[in-house]
Amino acid sequence: MGGIPVRLRAWDADPQVFGRVVEAYRAEIERQESILSVHRAGSTLSRLNRAGGTPVPVAGDTVRLLRIAAACAAETGGAFDPTVGPLLDAWKEAARTGVEPSAARLAQALAGVGIDRVHVEGDERDGGAVRLDPPTTLDLGGIAKGWFADLGLARLRDAGVRRGLVELGGDLAVYDDRPRPEPFRIGVRDPDDPGGLLGTLRVERGSVVTSGDYERGYDVGGRHYNHILDPRTGRPVAGLRAVTLWTLDGARADALATAVMVLGEREGWAFVERTAGVEAIMVVDDPAAPRGARIRVTPGLRGRFEVEPAWAASLDPST
Ligand code: ADP
Ligand code: MG
Repeated sequence: MGGIPVRLRAWDADPQVFGRVVEAYRAEIERQESILSVHRAGSTLSRLNRAGGTPVPVAGDTVRLLRIAAACAAETGGAFDPTVGPLLDAWKEAARTGVEPSAARLAQALAGVGIDRVHVEGDERDGGAVRLDPPTTLDLGGIAKGWFADLGLARLRDAGVRRGLVELGGDLAVYDDRPRPEPFRIGVRDPDDPGGLLGTLRVERGSVVTSGDYERGYDVGGRHYNHILDPRTGRPVAGLRAVTLWTLDGARADALATAVMVLGEREGWAFVERTAGVEAIMVVDDPAAPRGARIRVTPGLRGRFEVEPAWAASLDPST
């Protein structure tokens, strides 16, 4: 998917059944990309972004995805906001020129940011239409991977597979519908070393999504900036090195991980604590801590997260 490897796994499945699932999922990914990719000029989203405020017809599943995205924007107070596209452009330009965007440029881009500028009509079965208030554009990069994972799991389940896994670029979605589910051991990436591990998480179901800084982001005049932008200020987020978030729904997990990066330690922690069915591991920049970072784990994951020895001293004992 867009250069990211996609892995599908099934346990105790008939190889022929699994082969058909893989083929159908491949076709599904191609179809979704032809709708959602902002890198393809002919995609539905690209056409919508150029439509100048006129409604563009969309399929039922796209109505569903846009409603999930809007709900995530609402529940995070706009920290997740798929209308940050023009801001992303401003920072990409900055990376090219080596000069930070001016206040005026950011203000101009911010004028188009806001989920209330996206109007979705219709329903999840028959489809509908989307209209954007100019100059707003949509970019679903912060939710797409989780959405694709959900679609993969749904295909495995529909084929009768009782234990399955989908992985997209390090983000996972798993389930075990057997009477006695066994946990999956999921490696959480070391934020300082994409090849290494921060720890291992055991879960029987749901999505585990990590948002961080890794290899993506912008270098502007010798400084490195995160590729996640704060829709409130228009600037790249700072303060959290990585967030790994667990919740049942993959698309929501992806969006909320991005949102917690925006909210930062204090607000992000408060958000996860008050939101039922959402758990997280946060790696907080902290010059006073070993390795310059503190690891906080919400109560629901404490018995499930095993930190790597190299990071053990960074685990916040109060969490
Ligand atoms: P990754 O898994 O690569 O870290 P994320 O799920 O964190 O990706 O999403 C990052 C992408 O989301 C960015 O590349 C951009 O397309 C988009 N994005 C950036 N900031 C926001 C935001 N505040 N809300 C929604 N999407 C965002
Ligand atoms: Mg995300």
